[in-house]
Amino acid sequence: MKKQLFFTLAMAFSLPAFASNPLWTYEGAKGPGHWGELSPDYGTCHSGKFQSPIDIRQPVNADLAPLNLHYQNTAETLVNNGHTLQVSVQENEEVELDGQKFTLQQYHFHTPSENLIAGKSFPLEAHFVHSSDNNELLVVAVMFNIGAENPALGPLLAALPEKIDEVATLNQPMNIRPLFPENLHYYRFSGSLTTPPCTEGLRWIVLKEPVTLSQSQLEKFQHALRHANNRPVQPLNGRMIVE
Ligand SMILES: [Zn+2]
Repeated sequence: MKKQLFFTLAMAFSLPAFASNPLWTYEGAKGPGHWGELSPDYGTCHSGKFQSPIDIRQPVNADLAPLNLHYQNTAETLVNNGHTLQVSVQENEEVELDGQKFTLQQYHFHTPSENLIAGKSFPLEAHFVHSSDNNELLVVAVMFNIGAENPALGPLLAALPEKIDEVATLNQPMNIRPLFPENLHYYRFSGSLTTPPCTEGLRWIVLKEPVTLSQSQLEKFQHALRHANNRPVQPLNGRMIVE
C-alpha cells in the first residue's frame, strides 16, 4: 500500500517533465542561458548578435509597405511538442514582402509574449512562420491582450491533444483572419529563431495592434503548456527597428 502510494506520487511529480528527455528547456540546466552550450549546432544562441526576441523601443519612421495577408480557410493539424502548441497549415497561405512571396508553414504560441513593446509584456504572442522559395524565413508576430473571447482560438483549444507529440486534426477549415488585428501596421527588424538553433537572418514583423483572448482561453494555453515558454529578450546590438 505504502509502496503504491509512493509510486503514484512519483508519477505525479514526474508528470510536468515533458518529452522524456528534451534537448533544451525554458528553465534549469537546459534553459535559455545554457542553450549555446547544449549542442555544437546551438552555438548561435550564445554567439549571435542579432537574436530574438527583443524589446521594441524607439522605432524609426519608415515608409513601410502595407502588409498583404492572403490567408484563406484551411484545414490544419495541431501538436503540443512540449515547447509550444504548433499548428501546421496547408501551404496556400501567402504574405508578400520585399517583392517576394512567403508561404505560411506553421504558427505557434508563446505565453507570456517573447517580444516586448516599449517594455510591455503581453499574456500571449502568436508567431506565424513563413518561408520563401529560397528558404528565407519571415515571422509575423501578433500580441494578445485579455478581453473578448477570440473565435479563431476556439477550434484550436477544443482540439488540444492530451499527450506530447500527439497530432490532432482540425477537420473543419479554420479562418485564421481573426487571429490578426484589423489594423496591420507593424514594426520590422531583423532577428533569429527564438528557440535552438537560434538561426539568424530572419525577417521579423510585429503587429502594433494586439488582438484579444479571454482569460479562460489564456488559462487553457497555460494549462496545456504547463510552463512559460518565452525566451528572455536579447540585446539589440545596434539593430534598427522601423515602423
Ligand atoms: Zn515562436
